Amino acid sequence: MEKFVVAIREDPIVRISSTERFLPVKKGEKFSLIDEDVFFCDYNDYPQGRVYINDTLYTIALEPQHGWVVKEVKPEFIKHRCEAVSTFGITQSMLDKHQDAYFNSEDNFLKSHILNWNHHYREPTLVEFLYEKVYHNWVDRDVSVDEFILDTCYTLALYMPRFSKRFKGKITLYKNYLSMMEDKETAMKVGRALSIMFPYLTASQIGEIVDEYKTKFAPREFTLRTSTLASDFVTAYRSTQCEYEDPRQSCSRKAMSSSCMRGNTFDHLDRHPVEFYASGEFMIVWLTTKDGLIGGRCVVRLPYVKWIPRTFTYKVMPHVAAPVYGACDTSINMIEEYLDSIGADRSCEYNGWVGARLLNLSDGDGGHFGAYLDLEPRSVDAYQKYLVISEGGEIDASYYGGILGNTFDYHCENCGEGLHDDEAHYSEDNDQTYCEHCFNDIHSCCDNCNHQSLTENIQSVHYRVARGTFVTDADGNRITKRVMVTDRYDYCEVCCDEEAVHCNLTEEWWCDDEAKYIADEDLYHPVHRLEEDGFKEDEEGEYSRHGEEE
Ligand SMILES: [Zn+2]
Ligand SMILES: [Zn+2]
Repeated sequence: MEKFVVAIREDPIVRISSTERFLPVKKGEKFSLIDEDVFFCDYNDYPQGRVYINDTLYTIALEPQHGWVVKEVKPEFIKHRCEAVSTFGITQSMLDKHQDAYFNSEDNFLKSHILNWNHHYREPTLVEFLYEKVYHNWVDRDVSVDEFILDTCYTLALYMPRFSKRFKGKITLYKNYLSMMEDKETAMKVGRALSIMFPYLTASQIGEIVDEYKTKFAPREFTLRTSTLASDFVTAYRSTQCEYEDPRQSCSRKAMSSSCMRGNTFDHLDRHPVEFYASGEFMIVWLTTKDGLIGGRCVVRLPYVKWIPRTFTYKVMPHVAAPVYGACDTSINMIEEYLDSIGADRSCEYNGWVGARLLNLSDGDGGHFGAYLDLEPRSVDAYQKYLVISEGGEIDASYYGGILGNTFDYHCENCGEGLHDDEAHYSEDNDQTYCEHCFNDIHSCCDNCNHQSLTENIQSVHYRVARGTFVTDADGNRITKRVMVTDRYDYCEVCCDEEAVHCNLTEEWWCDDEAKYIADEDLYHPVHRLEEDGFKEDEEGEYSRHGEEE
């Protein structure tokens, strides 16, 4: 990587034959570091380098105090600008003819829609991917963004890369101008295509993009499985998921990466919360890759017989699916196709699961192992071995912690509300736990140490401060005048003890440096009121009121 130095101020310091001097150089000028060598010498601590400035070799300290900073260029893009375009076999003048497509004729700025891939290229997904990879990883920041965009857009517009239809995994493009004119395309390996279009990328950079390309675009193959067993519910939720690809989402299609129930979140519990689905009334549909990774899943209520009172008949209800969670569009689509093939209701409507039974798995402490229910209403009632999904059920099943029901860590000392660990507010003043509302009701902030303290323990502590006030002078002009006024802080007990004193005569707390101790009467009194309240100073600097009484 090439290194250079930049002057960060006018006339930076240089050294020549061990004398330092200021050299007339403009701020912002750049000079290449010779041999890219940075060295240290015996008599100072600065990293140093050598540069030619106007054909004279100088030593400079690479230190901002000396007016220099070191920078690195990523030179690949600059060196190879337009190389791709010229290997394509067209000349600059041929390119210039296309300028109109890219520039506004009025202001000569790049047209803003140039990055709207859908408009210009035949494979927008691929073009966008290539552009993002090259731009975010390897563009030298010193290159103007416009230049980069323009060159890359030329390149992509000339080579016209697309996914090969005949050779899976290859990229098809026009190799050069001639083949473009004759409409003869060539399919080639991704790495080779990249090295033609982006000759400034190194082999390892191309390797990285190829890897990402494969994960992103290689067709995925999943195997679809179904089961009603607890262990399979756990597998589908807990096993490692395959790489995500931002699937299209809606209320019935969700990205698996955003599920709170995934992975080993519940390993600390005796049972996995999704085991409660294994009552026999639900099945899990899930996808695995050939490496055993999870590609998607969906919980489905099995068909059941429903009594329709109005018509005195029974009706067989179809499968009712929860939202489908998947790693990519392919996986979600595959599960949706399966659900359609068995006639499942996948509208995710309210009430689809009402009346269904889940297993009642007691945690031995008043709670039930159970997951966040995928369909509304999210509440259940416990009946012996089962939890029955019902509207307005007593147990809230919209909780992600793995245990439903009695799951509170604390109760508010004041109002009795149940609290989870992260909602509890502990009072250091009285060792009690409160909900946020009650805590704020009875606590205030100490102005001195900023800690919350019981309001009943907070004292107003007085102090004197200078304020500006408007007064009218003898000539009738409004002028500002400095006056001393008394103000107050809220102090907690600790801060009162440490930094304030109680003045018995005024019955006020005062900052300790603003009250005077009267040894004679063993009390404190605010300094600014000593005289006014009849205290007199003796030769030793002590105050007393005795003189007055005599
Ligand atoms: Zn409370
Ligand atoms: Zn305090």
